Amino acid sequence: MHIETTTPPDLAWQEEALCAQTGGDFFFPEPGSSVREAKRICALCPIRPACLEYALTNDERFGVWGGLSEKERLGLRRTSH
Ligand code: SF4
Repeated sequence: MHIETTTPPDLAWQEEALCAQTGGDFFFPEPGSSVREAKRICALCPIRPACLEYALTNDERFGVWGGLSEKERLGLRRTSH
């Protein structure tokens, strides 16, 4: 029997990603443009906490992740340390 010894990165949660189903383009808006639409999708997303956690852990700088813009995540990182 073959036993898998390497653990793939845990990205299973991304299968539930609402933005992946709606098309992710507007999650990476031009600088200065509104992220309201993206946030609206995030608010309905079942995996928002995992997504936000992933973005914070991996230092994702661009776009909306877990319902927060990059500026908001930066603020969160500052206050949580
Ligand atoms: S929380 Fe937002 S950015 Fe993250 S997977 Fe869900 S819809 Fe996409």
